Amino acid sequence: MSFKEYLKNNQRIVYNTFASSIKANRLSHAYLIKGNEGAPLLETALFLAKSLICPHADPLACEECLTCIRFDEGNYADFKLLNGQEKNIKVSDIEELQAFFQNTPSEKSKKMIYIIHALENSNKESLNALLKFLEEPQENVYAFITTYNEEKLLPTILSRTQHLKLLPLKKGELIQKVENEGISKDDAEILSNLYGNVETIVSIGSSKTYIEIKNLVFDTLDALQKDTKEALFFLENNALNKLKDKVNARLYLDILSCAFKDILNIQLNLPIIIESQKYLFDSLAKKLKNVDSIYKEIMLTRGKIELNVNIALLLEHIFIYIYEGEK
Ligand SMILES: [Zn+2]
Repeated sequence: MSFKEYLKNNQRIVYNTFASSIKANRLSHAYLIKGNEGAPLLETALFLAKSLICPHADPLACEECLTCIRFDEGNYADFKLLNGQEKNIKVSDIEELQAFFQNTPSEKSKKMIYIIHALENSNKESLNALLKFLEEPQENVYAFITTYNEEKLLPTILSRTQHLKLLPLKKGELIQKVENEGISKDDAEILSNLYGNVETIVSIGSSKTYIEIKNLVFDTLDALQKDTKEALFFLENNALNKLKDKVNARLYLDILSCAFKDILNIQLNLPIIIESQKYLFDSLAKKLKNVDSIYKEIMLTRGKIELNVNIALLLEHIFIYIYEGEK
């Protein structure tokens, strides 16, 4: 699927808004493209920028002509990109940008374009310098600014730009993308339930720590299925030493909450997420009575991890809670 098709199918509002601005000749001189971590902000900015210069635009870039290809290859002369994800944007970067756009355009389209990607990675001086630049728009200069965190930008920058918001990926698309990156279907399903973007899921899913903690969760549940005290025993003797730091404990609770959601789904006759553990979950769904309150207890514990408390006690408490509920 070309990026144009992706935008047309999955980001219809952005696609239509921009296309109708071009058609009506009502382009803004500065756009702010925003979205969650992992959203294709830079790709969108590049595609929209290209749409301004493609001679075959319909009204968005054809992605095939010589101009589009030259742009993709970085050979469009009147274009600058500052990438805040590669390095923080400094005042001198903005000043250089400003100086560059004092030149007369050398390309036939007469359009000069810049992209500032992940503008939140800059300091106050840079933002102020950019604001000044935005306050004096030049006729043929177009800006595409992107951000994953608009709260870090100045309100005056927000008010000087037209906003285009990318929607998060749908669950099925996310799982598919993660699988394409080599993560197993099971892990893709578990992790897409916990995180909203491809990069985070792929980086967690391919880490040794994740596999280790996931196994700890299922081993605890395996013990739980036999006997609740055995689960507590397993946790204390085999798991707690690996769950000392908050990051690991959080991941343990996240996967555990996923599992309990599935056990609850089985009791409610709803489809489950972690298909590979269906057998284990089935028997837990038969054994455990108060699954929804256990699930709530896990979520409550998850919130407490952020506070500075004894992690071991918190985790043990979940299984003591289950044990007490059985009496
Ligand atoms: Zn083209």
